[in-house]
Amino acid sequence: MCAEPLLAVLIGPGGVGKGTIAQRLIDADENLWLSRSWTTRPQRASERGDEYVFVDAPTFERAIAEGRFLEWARFHDHLYGTPLPKAPAERDVLLEIEVQGAEQVRGRYPDAVVILITPPSDADLEGRLRARGDADEHVQKRLSSAPDEVTRGQELANFVVVNDDLERATNEILSILEGLRQQRRSPSSKD
Ligand code: 5GP
Repeated sequence: MCAEPLLAVLIGPGGVGKGTIAQRLIDADENLWLSRSWTTRPQRASERGDEYVFVDAPTFERAIAEGRFLEWARFHDHLYGTPLPKAPAERDVLLEIEVQGAEQVRGRYPDAVVILITPPSDADLEGRLRARGDADEHVQKRLSSAPDEVTRGQELANFVVVNDDLERATNEILSILEGLRQQRRSPSSKD
């Protein structure tokens, strides 16, 4: 018997470490498949280039019109979207997105599991954003949207994980995913 694949969504304020955690999760868990988003944001100097499909706004808008996104949102002047997933059969799907997109995913897939990642403190978040080399203006913008991201995220999330330590937080999420898989495999534990 095969259970339906999980759709897991990582959310949390910019700079909280979602991307690093997502990468660690897929490195550690061969059942997970990480969706690659599209964005109109320019590539950062620190990025390898395969973090996103980097496109211009007309290309993104055409894909919206053609219904090619599972969700998309405007975040700080740029568009971000998850293409309709093409996960290999039976792999669980992991999305790493902001909260407006997660709200759309939940509307479309009520069973999606939303995990909110929070920083241990505001100072920690600011330190991480600065360490990423973002311009001061970008750091301020992202810090200003963090409280809303966390408040809306708390309303949506099935689980909240504090990124106080990368390895600990990653392991906590791996355990959450394993617990959910076990629940799905064992019909007796279903409500
Ligand atoms: P960044 O520019 O720092 O890479 O990403 C900005 C925000 O957009 C982050 O919160 C990131 O998780 C989110 N994001 C990345 N991809 C997507 C996507 O496909 N859809 C949505 N809604 N948000 C995304």
